Amino acid sequence: MAIEQTISIIKPDAVAKNVIGQIYSRFENAGLKIVAAKMVHLSQERAEGFYAVHKERPFFADLVAFMTSGPVMVQVLEGENAVTKNRELMGATNPKNADAGTIRADFADSIDENAVHGSDSLENAAIEIAYFFGEEGLCPRTR
Ligand code: GDP
Ligand code: MG
Repeated sequence: MAIEQTISIIKPDAVAKNVIGQIYSRFENAGLKIVAAKMVHLSQERAEGFYAVHKERPFFADLVAFMTSGPVMVQVLEGENAVTKNRELMGATNPKNADAGTIRADFADSIDENAVHGSDSLENAAIEIAYFFGEEGLCPRTR
């Protein structure tokens, strides 16, 4: 199986709940390594740019308002099948439909405040990694 990299974002609701460490433990317990991370308070422009694919959706303004309401924690996860594995750990977009034991089932309150983002394909993962870490780059594990 291929080693992949994917973007994870712990959204403002989960940062406010102070569960960054609990969510990180789920990544680590699943064999995913954090190879880059930073906390950022997204500007309107940066949130709109990140979610540009959704700009025609009726919830776009609400999504941008939510994502700029407080700091987020952005990380690159690396490991076998990382894109799919992260999506499985996250659970369904609507926490009401998320499997028991997933991050959204345990930490999210609603479809709009749903705790985490994860890249949905390898192609989008590359775009999202460049969007957040293009200048700083990643930190490959050397030991
Ligand atoms: P994801 O890949 O599982 O995060 O889901 P999508 O890519 O479909 O949507 C992106 C984000 O938009 C979701 O994580 C939600 O935060 C938000 N979102 C999606 N659908 C709705 C909706 O019907 N209403 C609202 N308010 N937000 C939504
Ligand atoms: Mg998505």
